[in-house]
Amino acid sequence: MQPIKNTLQRYFGFSTFRNHQEAIVKHIIAGNDAMVLMPTGGGKSICYQLPALLLDGMTIVVSPLIALMKDQVDALKMNGIAADYLNSSQSSSRQAEVMAEISEGRLKLLYVAPEKLFGGENGGFLSSLEQYKIALVAIDEAHCVSQWGHDFRPEYLQLSRLKKVFPAVPTIALTATADSLTQKDIADKLALNSPKWFVSSFNRENINYTIAPKMHSREKLLAFLDDYKEESGIIYTLSRNATESLAEFLQEHDFKALPYHAGLEREVKERHQEDFIKDKVKIIVATIAFGMGIDKSNVRFVVHMDLPKNIESYYQETGRAGRDGLPSKALLFYSRGDVMKMERFVEVDNNAAFSNVMLKKLKQMSVFCETNTCRRQYLLQYFDEQAPDTCGNCDVCLGTFEEKDITRQAQMLFSAIVRLKERFGASYLIDFLRGSKSSKIKAEQRQVKTFGVGKDYSKDVWSFYVRELMNAGYIRSQEGTYPTLSLEPKAWEALKAQQPIVIKERVAETETNIHQTEYEYDLFMDLKALRYRMASEENVPPYIIASDAALVEIATYLPITNQALKQMAGFGEMKVEKYGKAFCNTVNGYLKQNQIESRIHLKKSKTSKKRSGTVSTISDTFKETLSLYKSGLSIPEIAAKRSLSPNTIENHLARCIGAGSLKLNDFVDNKKQNAIEAAIKEVGMEKLSPIKELLDDNISYFEIRAVLENKRALA
Ligand code: ADP
Ligand code: ZN
Repeated sequence: MQPIKNTLQRYFGFSTFRNHQEAIVKHIIAGNDAMVLMPTGGGKSICYQLPALLLDGMTIVVSPLIALMKDQVDALKMNGIAADYLNSSQSSSRQAEVMAEISEGRLKLLYVAPEKLFGGENGGFLSSLEQYKIALVAIDEAHCVSQWGHDFRPEYLQLSRLKKVFPAVPTIALTATADSLTQKDIADKLALNSPKWFVSSFNRENINYTIAPKMHSREKLLAFLDDYKEESGIIYTLSRNATESLAEFLQEHDFKALPYHAGLEREVKERHQEDFIKDKVKIIVATIAFGMGIDKSNVRFVVHMDLPKNIESYYQETGRAGRDGLPSKALLFYSRGDVMKMERFVEVDNNAAFSNVMLKKLKQMSVFCETNTCRRQYLLQYFDEQAPDTCGNCDVCLGTFEEKDITRQAQMLFSAIVRLKERFGASYLIDFLRGSKSSKIKAEQRQVKTFGVGKDYSKDVWSFYVRELMNAGYIRSQEGTYPTLSLEPKAWEALKAQQPIVIKERVAETETNIHQTEYEYDLFMDLKALRYRMASEENVPPYIIASDAALVEIATYLPITNQALKQMAGFGEMKVEKYGKAFCNTVNGYLKQNQIESRIHLKKSKTSKKRSGTVSTISDTFKETLSLYKSGLSIPEIAAKRSLSPNTIENHLARCIGAGSLKLNDFVDNKKQNAIEAAIKEVGMEKLSPIKELLDDNISYFEIRAVLENKRALA
């Protein structure tokens, strides 16, 4: 094995690189500078930690997140890597210990806060480092150097001095900020030496984006949380009061939740954050004061009870979910009312230019919530990244739409617009249609025939109709401080010809199953409990002993020897030595109790398998279903045996048909195949439900899926 891969496996327990990790590591150990742009959870740490191990001398890691340093260093030590940190929170005797480690050349990585680096006399601590062999300088959260970024820190400006003191030492700057203005600024401010840029996609595939109407949001939240009983999550609210009242509300409903906001006592804040990081409470209800410096990898959901100010904040906050790469959810409750409320928040007195920028960003945020196209596409395009039309993992892509005739409602609106002489905006018109008692509505207008004709529909429903009619080109909003609505020719034509006006309304969203990957769920829970006990004993966050992703792997492949455990992502030599026995014992106990066997042999075959052409290869779990099926078991029997739903088993079988391991004709007769084919011709093969709608009830989803898989394989 190459030394780079070997070191990755030995210390970090990973067998392959992610994103541009490998190229970056090679670039750095060859002595060059690099700018690394990778989304949260992309795997930035490896980009400097691995070179640190491969190069001679000590690597300096500059990070503003003092609260995080201890966890980062603990995680490194856990992998058998000599690391330590220096910041102002430490006692002077502790700092002296670290200084001793440095002077004795015992450290591979030193984490240091900027104020520590530049503090002190005679050129400060930085100058004192000159006498040692410095291998690499890494600047984490590098966007803090830019005024354009959302988290500017003046002390970061001094970082350009690093290049002066260590001109020959390679420097790597890393950030998850996607905004291009900030990115360019970073390289300049740090005075990097013609750095190579490594830009990864900012797409967070494993995060599902969902927007729900804000009505009855607390009830909806409870229903949502029901699926996440054992999981960690962050819920953002706008106000401090709301964090406390919502946390209380959740506690009353038996959820372990704590509030967090800038107004709480420091000890309280620290305790709540600590309890969350250590899995002692599952849910933090917070204002945006919470999150910076949270490295917890097993956050399964982020909920926004109120509208964020802009896409940047939203993306950063939702990005805290699913760092470990497992399926995670970002849910936002949206209402038009919030937009108006936020307009007041983002406006800054006496600064029209700034206010306009902020209002524009807010507008983009609301468009995102109102869009009927793929959410992910919108987000990625916002950050100047190309994206396909559908992602298959947002509420729009997963949702089903129903056509709805709103001719009558449209006529009411058109009529109101005309009668009020196209001089009013959407919210006034909606109040007018709903017969609002507000004094805003002029007395003479109350006499107009259309006043109050739309009172049967709520404000939100009306806003939705207005938006849809606007998108469909019936009405138009004039630009300006007071955007007024007017009719387009298309509306006049529709009125004249008495054409029906039909829009698409999203009905129930198909729930994504958070436990999509198939693994032994009970064992996973046992492993979590084991991890929790170990972490409490050592007083470290559970996720640095093993990530949720690692536990899922164990619960999938069921390793019972240290050798087998080494094949699980995140188990390097040190961890296997230290925790191997306990994990293997737990797995072993589970196997005995359930009379099943280790599936580690499936893991081996995984790496040697490659997807080729359009013929899909089938994964291990499908193979298992296939062999049970071939042994004569029925679908319900296989489902029971594998503790999976019959639906999942049907999916497996459909995939096996696609891969050519089973014959379509054995499952779907010719007549049905023809009917399904005909439906596909009409509505395409992207989504199942429109096809199903066209067909008789006696044709099942499974049969449709089987035909689709077969077609895809032939395509
Ligand atoms: P970032 O700093 O970019 O947010 P991290 O460096 O914290 O990301 O990595 C995110 C997660 O991905 C961690 O749980 C880490 O262990 C895991 N990870 C990083 N590189 C790899 C890899 N090559 N293979 C598997 N997991 C990885
Ligand atoms: Zn999508």
